[in-house]
Amino acid sequence: MASEAVKVIVRCRPMSEREKALGCKEVVSMESTRGQCFLQNPTATSEPPKQFTFDGVYYQEHNTEQIYNEIAYPLVEGVTEGYNSTIFAYGQTGSGKSFTMQGIVDPSTQKGIIPRAFEHIFESIQCAENAKFLVRASYLEIYNEDIRDLLGADTKQKLELKEHPEAGVYVKGLSLHTVHSVAQCEQLMELGWRHRAVGYTLMNKDSSRSHSIFTVNVEICTVDQQGQDHLRAAKLNLVDLAGSERQSKTGATGERLKEATKINLSLSALGNVISALVDGRCKHIPYRDSKLTRLLQDSLGGNTKTLMVACLSPADNNYEESLSTLRYANRAKNIKNKPCINEDPKDALLREYQEEIKKLKAILAEQMAMNNLSGLLPAETAHLEEKPAPLHKLQLDIEAEKQLIREEYEERLAQLKGSYEAEQASRARLEEDIRNLRNHYDLKLSALQGNLKKEKAATRTETTPDKTCLPEDSVAAADEEQTSAQGLAAPRAVQEGGVVSRGSAGAEMAVAAEGISVPADQQRVLARLQMLEQQVVGGEQAKNKDLIEKRQRRKKYADERRMQLVAALQQEDEDSSDWVLLKVYDSTQEEVRAKSKLLEKMQKKLRAAETEIKDLQSEFEREKSDYLSAIRRLEQKLMLFQQLLDRVQSLIRRDCNYSNLEKIKRESIWDEETGCWKIPEPVIQKTHLPAAVPALPQPRPARKSPENREQTPEEDRYKLVLNRSDSEIIASNYFRSPRTSRILQPDLTKNRAAPGPEGPRSGAPAMPRPRPFRLQALALAPTTTTHKKGSNSHPL
Ligand code: ADP
Ligand code: MG
Repeated sequence: MASEAVKVIVRCRPMSEREKALGCKEVVSMESTRGQCFLQNPTATSEPPKQFTFDGVYYQEHNTEQIYNEIAYPLVEGVTEGYNSTIFAYGQTGSGKSFTMQGIVDPSTQKGIIPRAFEHIFESIQCAENAKFLVRASYLEIYNEDIRDLLGADTKQKLELKEHPEAGVYVKGLSLHTVHSVAQCEQLMELGWRHRAVGYTLMNKDSSRSHSIFTVNVEICTVDQQGQDHLRAAKLNLVDLAGSERQSKTGATGERLKEATKINLSLSALGNVISALVDGRCKHIPYRDSKLTRLLQDSLGGNTKTLMVACLSPADNNYEESLSTLRYANRAKNIKNKPCINEDPKDALLREYQEEIKKLKAILAEQMAMNNLSGLLPAETAHLEEKPAPLHKLQLDIEAEKQLIREEYEERLAQLKGSYEAEQASRARLEEDIRNLRNHYDLKLSALQGNLKKEKAATRTETTPDKTCLPEDSVAAADEEQTSAQGLAAPRAVQEGGVVSRGSAGAEMAVAAEGISVPADQQRVLARLQMLEQQVVGGEQAKNKDLIEKRQRRKKYADERRMQLVAALQQEDEDSSDWVLLKVYDSTQEEVRAKSKLLEKMQKKLRAAETEIKDLQSEFEREKSDYLSAIRRLEQKLMLFQQLLDRVQSLIRRDCNYSNLEKIKRESIWDEETGCWKIPEPVIQKTHLPAAVPALPQPRPARKSPENREQTPEEDRYKLVLNRSDSEIIASNYFRSPRTSRILQPDLTKNRAAPGPEGPRSGAPAMPRPRPFRLQALALAPTTTTHKKGSNSHPL
C-alpha cells in the first residue's frame, strides 16, 4: 500500500479592521509559485525572515475557489472512489478557519470548502455510470472535551466515543441524515452551525470555542460487466478546529479560561500525535489523550487522505501565534498516511437497500404477471380444461391455499395501511410520484399483455403451460427503465426462494412457496420502492457530456498545478546544490560570481538556522511556563479538593465504606473508554448481631470457687473484659472513703476479710475480685460488656 504525506497549505487573510485600527504591520509574505511562506520577526527586523515550504500558500488576494480547485479537489474526488478523506483548518482564533471551511455566499469565489465539497460529491455521483450511492451526513462538535450532536434531537446531550474492531472509533448515538442533494447538505450545515458553541474573546467576538466535524458518509455500489455488485464506503471529514492561541492572549478568565485550557489540551494532544508520528522512533502514538485525536485517528497516520489548512493573520501582533501555526503545519506535512479504498464494508446500509429494492421489484414483476394472467384466464379456460386431471386438482388446492393466505394477508395489510396512510398524509408529493409510476406500469402492463397474447398464439400447441413462468424478454420490456440487471433476475429468485421479507419496512410481503405469488398491495410496494430508490442516488447526469468534460478539466488542473509546484521546488534545489561547485565554468569570474552567490545563500541559511534554534528554545521555555502554570492551577484545585475531603471524611459514618478513603482510592479504576474513574458504590456495612440463643434450662453447676472452676476459652475472654471494666473503676474505688464503700457495697466488706497475697494498702479500699459472669446473658447482648457500678446481678 503506497504511503502519501499529509498535504499542508497555508492561507493568510487580509488585515482586519481591528488590526488596521491598531496600526499593525504585515509580517507575513508568500511566494506562491514555490509554495513558500516567510515570516518576519517584528522585534528583530535585521534577521532574515523565517521560511517554510508547503504544498500551497495562499495570500490575501487568493480565494477559496482557487484553494479548492488546486488542492482539495483530488481529496474529495477520492471520497467518491472509496477513500476516506479529511480536511481540517488549524490556526489561532480569528485567522480565517471558519471563513475557509464554511465561507461566505457573496462573492461566490469565497464559498467555503464544505459547501464546495457538497457540490463536488453530488456532481461526481450524478456523472457516475453503473453506480449507486447512499449519502449520509452528520455534524458534531467537541466542546470542553464533550461530544455533542449538532443535528441531534438534543444538541446538549453528551455522546460517548466507542471503538469497533472493524469500523474503528465512532460516536455512539450520533444522528446520520440521508441527503439527496447539495441543498439538503447546506441546510444541515446551517442548522448545525447555529447550534455551535460560541464565546467572546478579545480575538474574535463570536469565535467558535469548539472543534466541529461535518462528516459526509458515502456508500457506493458499482456493477461490473458481469452484473456483479461491488460495495465500497468512504467518509469525508470536514473539520473546523477551535482557536490555537495561547490562553494569556485571549484575555480569558473563569469559564473561558477553563474552555481555553481544554481547547489547548486537545490541540496539544493533536500536536503530540503529529510529533509522535513524525518522529519515527515513537512506538506509542497518544491518540487516546483527547477526543479530537481519537476521532481523527485515521486521518493522522491512518488510511485517510488528509489536508491541513493552516490559517494566519498577517499582523505583527500575532507573530508568535503565526510562528507556532507555521511550525505546527511544518511538522504535520511529514506525516505519512496509507490511503486505501474501503471495500466491502460489513455494515453497509446500501447493501440492505439494494437487496430490498431487488425484492420489491421482484414482487412487482410477480404481480404484473398475475394481473396479466388473470386477465387472460377466461380466454384460456378452454385450453386449461384440456389439462390432465392431477394438475387440475393441484390447481384447486393451490387456489384454496391462495385464498387462505390472501385473507390473512389482507387483514395484516389493513392494519399496515392505517399507519401507512398517516404517513402518506404528509407525503403528497410522493403520492403524485406513485400515481405517475403506476400509470407508467399500467402502460407497460398492457404492452406486456399484448406481447403475451402473441406468445400464446405461438405456443398454443403446448399442453401444460407454466402460469408462473414469464418470458424474460417481456419482463425486461415492461421494466426497462426501472429495473437494473439484478432486478431482472429477481422474479425467478423470488419464485425459487419462497418468502421475501421487507426487512426495514417492517411489513412482511409474503410470497408463497413453489412459484405461486400472493397478490400484494401494488401501491404500497411502489411507494416503498419509490422511497428506497429516492434514498439512493447516482448516474442522473451520466450522459451529460459537458459536465463530464468539465470534471475532467478540473481533475487535470489540480494535477498540473501540483506538477508546476514540484518543478519550481526542484529548480530551487538545483540553484543551491552541489552542482554549483562541480560545474565547469567558462571563466573564473563566472565561477566566482556563482560561488559567491551560493555562499551568500548558505550564510543566510546558516543565520536562519541559528535564529530558529534560539526561537525554538524560547518557544520551548514559553510552553514550559504555560504548562507549569497549568500544573500549579491544577495542584491548587487538587489541594482544595483534598482539604474538603479531609473535613468531610470525619462526618462520614464509620460503617460506610467511604470512611476508608485510602481503600476507596485503591479500588478505583481509570476507564479509558469513558475517560472517567470507576469508583466503588457507597455501601453501609451493617453489623449483624448473632441470633439470640434462648436460655435453655441447664443443670445448675455445682458451686465452685472462682479459682478452681474449669473455664472454657470463651469464658476466659469474657472474664478478661469484665476484669478490665473492673480495673477501670479502680481509681474511683481506691479514692472512695471506706465508709461510702461499706454503705454502697456491703458484700465487699466481707470479701475484704480474705485479701490477696499482696494485701490491701493501709487505708485503701480492697481491690475488687474478678467477677464470675453469666454466659447466657452475654450471649444475648454481647456488646453490653460495661460493668455497672453497684450491680447486684452477680450470680455469686
Ligand atoms: P476563525 O474561525 O479562525 O476564528 P473566522 O473565519 O471567523 O476566524 O475569521 C475571522 C474574521 O476574518 C471574519 O470576519 C472573516 O470574515 C474574516 N476573514 C477571514 N479570512 C478571510 C479572508 N481570506 N478574506 C477576507 N476576510 C477573511
Ligand atoms: Mg471559527
